[in-house]
Amino acid sequence: MDCIFCKIANKEIPADIVSEDENFVVFKDIHPKAPVHLLIIPKKHIGPLSALTEKDREAVAGMILKAKEIAEKIGVAKSGYRLVFNVGKDAGMEVDHLHLHLLAGKPLKFEF
Ligand code: AMP
Ligand code: ZN
Repeated sequence: MDCIFCKIANKEIPADIVSEDENFVVFKDIHPKAPVHLLIIPKKHIGPLSALTEKDREAVAGMILKAKEIAEKIGVAKSGYRLVFNVGKDAGMEVDHLHLHLLAGKPLKFEF
């Protein structure tokens, strides 16, 4: 499958990986929108959030718990962080391999 995040998970293309375990890879976003901008992905290809089904429940919960674990590990849990799933065109979703953005490192604006 021609999926850029599968290629990152399979080490077919390089990425700045900050954490990896059996199920998830965490790497730096190539176009950071905050001082800390990480992406949490499942190693196994899961499509966009709009296509999730019951079988994905554990993976999605695991992604959120992984984000929490990483936020603690990199020292932003206390100062705060934001987790974002972009879904569809108006959210600017570009990659259809499920991914969770972790943004931190400064007070984050919330305006559109
Ligand atoms: P989204 O807009 O939610 O689909 O987010 C996709 C994100 O992936 C964007 O923030 C991109 O900057 C990021 N991205 C795309 N290609 C790469 C890559 N090769 N390495 C790291 N981040 C990437
Ligand atoms: Zn994929």
